[in-house]
Amino acid sequence: MTAPTALPEAWPPESWIKVLPQGLYVEPGDFFVDPVRPAARAVITHGHADHARPNNERVLATPDTLAIMRARYGEAAGGALQPLPYGETVRIGEVDVRFVPAGHVLGSAQAVMEYRGCRIVVSGDYKRRADPTCAPFEPVPCDVFVTEATFGLPVFRHPPDGGEIARLLHSVELFPERSHVVGAYALGKCQRVIALIRQAGYDKPIFLHGAHIPLCNLYRELGVDLGELVPATGLKKDAFVGHIVMAPPSAVADRWARRLPDPVVAMASGWMTVRQRARQRGVELPLVISDHADWDELCMTLEEVGAPEVWVTHGREEALVHHATGRGIRARALALVGFDEEGQGELPDLEQPPAAGAAPAQGALL
Ligand SMILES: [Zn+2]
Ligand SMILES: [Zn+2]
Repeated sequence: MTAPTALPEAWPPESWIKVLPQGLYVEPGDFFVDPVRPAARAVITHGHADHARPNNERVLATPDTLAIMRARYGEAAGGALQPLPYGETVRIGEVDVRFVPAGHVLGSAQAVMEYRGCRIVVSGDYKRRADPTCAPFEPVPCDVFVTEATFGLPVFRHPPDGGEIARLLHSVELFPERSHVVGAYALGKCQRVIALIRQAGYDKPIFLHGAHIPLCNLYRELGVDLGELVPATGLKKDAFVGHIVMAPPSAVADRWARRLPDPVVAMASGWMTVRQRARQRGVELPLVISDHADWDELCMTLEEVGAPEVWVTHGREEALVHHATGRGIRARALALVGFDEEGQGELPDLEQPPAAGAAPAQGALL
């Protein structure tokens, strides 16, 4: 434990950063971080729809996040888009703002904000494992750390990605007469899974559902190598035999996948640790690959940033608040509205109680 230091001039932090229905509001800079409703000024941590909403008047984000927002929203990406590369600082009102990599998806950033000697870091979403498609998370010492907690329960421990990819490639080898369809959300997970497959030495073409084409193209334009990708549209069934097809999670279980020859249904998601969820989705080959920190990564990160105060949002707040409190950290849960694009947003049925007539969710963790 370090000796108590003098409190910053701007303390308590609630005196300048407020939790409002639209999101976190930074008063001396008059801006929101990841507002859920259009705001006059928005600082955006990354391109997922629960963080980057359309139609803000002014947007500050990393150049890659702005490119992603333009690709997804077109004109509605925002009125004035101001790029801020990692490590550079701008002053907004009386607040110094800079972005530091969050290791979540391409362009993802933690927003580091300083005002009168007080430094608050809003993590956005993050993970701590290596990801060939984005810059790694950098811990920043701070007075208040605002952390996500999507997988904020000790039961969530994600295995190494390499083993999950090896299981996929092993299955491809084992069933050369079948196709493999891998469900992955369109921004980040799809490109990461492809890059990991390439890292493992697989160099055959990988087929893409139409929904995955625009962001894969953008990633390549922004310098991420994904190898040979082929649109899956308009091809005969035979073309997919022995191949990997990437598709959105919603497509793997519906009619679209039925056009594939005897598909092995795989899904790449942190939620695949919960067997019941995999079964509900008809997933034969669950791959635990997450773009969010697991429990150990969350706890490690709290240690590394060393903040005496932690605000927890975006998921399972209570367990992490309890853990932090036990370590002498002042911790609170933020009740921010929103949905998680990578989690609930793409696997909606998994977050809701079972439909009438369905078997009770025995052993469900959540
Ligand atoms: Zn995200
Ligand atoms: Zn999120």
